[in-house]
Amino acid sequence: MPMRFDILTLFPEMVTRILGESIIGRAQKSGCITVEAHNSRDYSTDKHHRVDDTPYGGGRGMLMAAPPVYDCHAAVCAMADAAWTGEGAPRRRTVYLSPKGRVLTQDYAKSLLDYDQLILLCGHYEGSDQRVLDEIVDEEISIGDYVLTGGELPACVLVDCVARMVEGVLPEAVCYESESIACGLLEYPQYTRPAVFHGVPVPEVLLSGHHEKIDAWRLARSMELTQRLRPDLLENVFPDHEKKGR
Ligand code: SAM
Repeated sequence: MPMRFDILTLFPEMVTRILGESIIGRAQKSGCITVEAHNSRDYSTDKHHRVDDTPYGGGRGMLMAAPPVYDCHAAVCAMADAAWTGEGAPRRRTVYLSPKGRVLTQDYAKSLLDYDQLILLCGHYEGSDQRVLDEIVDEEISIGDYVLTGGELPACVLVDCVARMVEGVLPEAVCYESESIACGLLEYPQYTRPAVFHGVPVPEVLLSGHHEKIDAWRLARSMELTQRLRPDLLENVFPDHEKKGR
């Protein structure tokens, strides 16, 4: 079965528009993945469909109330169970996008490929009532040490990052395994036609057709770039790199 992403949000169009485009949009059309957005407001029992309320104890802003989020999550789990045709129960993980969470990495995104269904909960306002998070969330994930107005963009980032590693989404695994970060280094610079742009020619070795020399040139550029911009990565590739350099 295709890997399933369910996004719980107050702004479903934000995520469907973004994830409906380009490679992730095509991956949905070709059946490699499914992405559905669910509006937790639809699960509000308030006559005005309110989903937020003031925090107990006072303080700024509003909080997402627990009941609509909980009911939306329960409905999404039931939908996925009903649609599931695989063996046993679907392996499911619920992630709350939050600046308090562990910061997203390529390795973490890769670990999510072990699941059949990812449920991504987007916060808004000042966040959500803690009780529903404690009950339904397996893990909180941040996309970086800054704060956004809502979890929709972080959810799209997480879906994109995971989905491009799902089999069939990119032509072959080497497409993402050989890239910056995933390969342990930063990628070498690349060039396409024209051969001269604003007076700057493409490095001659790339026109040589000599694959060994090209590979060596690329590795050298990768190492240089990584050393200059992200020396911390070299520490992972060559654990005694720092010590030797000292
Ligand atoms: N009051 C919260 C705090 O101080 O931790 C921040 C709430 S933020 C304004 C609203 C929502 O945006 C969060 O609940 C979360 O879903 C999302 N969000 C904001 N920054 C994020 C980040 N760096 N990574 C993931 N989600 C984020």
